Amino acid sequence: MHKEHVYIGVGSNLGDSQGKAQRAFDAIRQIEDTRVLKTSSLYSSKPMGPQDQPDYINAVCLIETSLKPHGLLKQLQRIELEEGRERKGERWGPRTLDLDILLYGSETIDTADLIIPHYGMAEREFVMVPLFEIAPNMVMHDGKPISAWVANCSLDGLRRLRSSN
Ligand code: ATP
Ligand code: CA
Ligand code: CA
Ligand code: CA
Repeated sequence: MHKEHVYIGVGSNLGDSQGKAQRAFDAIRQIEDTRVLKTSSLYSSKPMGPQDQPDYINAVCLIETSLKPHGLLKQLQRIELEEGRERKGERWGPRTLDLDILLYGSETIDTADLIIPHYGMAEREFVMVPLFEIAPNMVMHDGKPISAWVANCSLDGLRRLRSSN
């Protein structure tokens, strides 16, 4: 069966965020035809958008899966709901768990409900720094090495909490 390497971004800022990020890795492990190959450390970051909300816990993982992109998105949204995610109107408002597909192999996807590479990742230190931790030799879609991006980025309060397991 054909398998792809896929990077997933994890975010949480409500409830036991560290526990939720950890449980997200466990839940992703349980997805059919999917293996977790690498997990980053957990990071703490300042909220993007509305500032009247708690700091975030962020992390990234690398999986190997035979699910197609939309099938994987469906599984990730199921896990978000199981961790109590409620979709309210506010953009970038607080959430128990957010799972974004960052990269799916080398594919480019542009559909109404799925855009890959994730449109915001290259502007977000809380995505790029954990990604660099587990994929230091990655070359981005624009041809730049991720190391160059990280060397020039502003950390904006991003802190690594503890090493990966
Ligand atoms: P942002 O997308 O800026 O990180 P967000 O994660 O808070 O914000 P959500 O409310 O979680 O946004 O998702 C809105 C929609 O984005 C989802 O319903 C999903 O269909 C769509 N979407 C598009 N591309 C992706 C992707 N690569 N990974 C996950 N969801 C995506
Ligand atoms: Ca920020
Ligand atoms: Ca997101
Ligand atoms: Ca999301």
